[in-house]
Amino acid sequence: MQDLKLKAAEKRGAHQLGGDNLVGWDEVTQGIVLTSFDGDATGVSHKKAEERNYSDFNSYTATVASWRVMKPVFNIDVCIDCQNCWVWCPDSSILSRDKQMLGIDYDHCKGCEVCVEVCPTNPKSLLMFSEYEDLGNALASWPEKKKKEKK
Ligand code: SF4
Ligand code: SF4
Repeated sequence: MQDLKLKAAEKRGAHQLGGDNLVGWDEVTQGIVLTSFDGDATGVSHKKAEERNYSDFNSYTATVASWRVMKPVFNIDVCIDCQNCWVWCPDSSILSRDKQMLGIDYDHCKGCEVCVEVCPTNPKSLLMFSEYEDLGNALASWPEKKKKEKK
């Protein structure tokens, strides 16, 4: 019985600081250590996300895609690579390399719409669509540039 309990804790739990004592998420105490990476994490900040050795405790290994009812769609034809969306996304779900916007990490995006709100282009380079909308259809329905209103 004790072994089973320990195994369950190992699967969902954490190593208590200073030993191999394993506990569940609801049993953690102050000073517990949750390692974000397996093995030696030296230089990990210089690696691309897909090259990092994330541990089971890291939220990168869990998808939240099922939470979303609306998703942001990215239109590369309008984007000016200003990186506003990358800076403001609360879930680090904007994919950008060498200051070039590449798209959305749909495994971790929660559909909050912040990226759309901060996108400065006309029309916006990110717009919200139903989670089930086909990407090709979404891009085909992109709005035209809005003309400035005369004062
Ligand atoms: S909708 Fe929210 S979580 Fe998703 S990419 Fe935009 S800012 Fe990030
Ligand atoms: S905020 Fe808009 S224009 Fe700027 S990088 Fe993001 S998608 Fe492109």
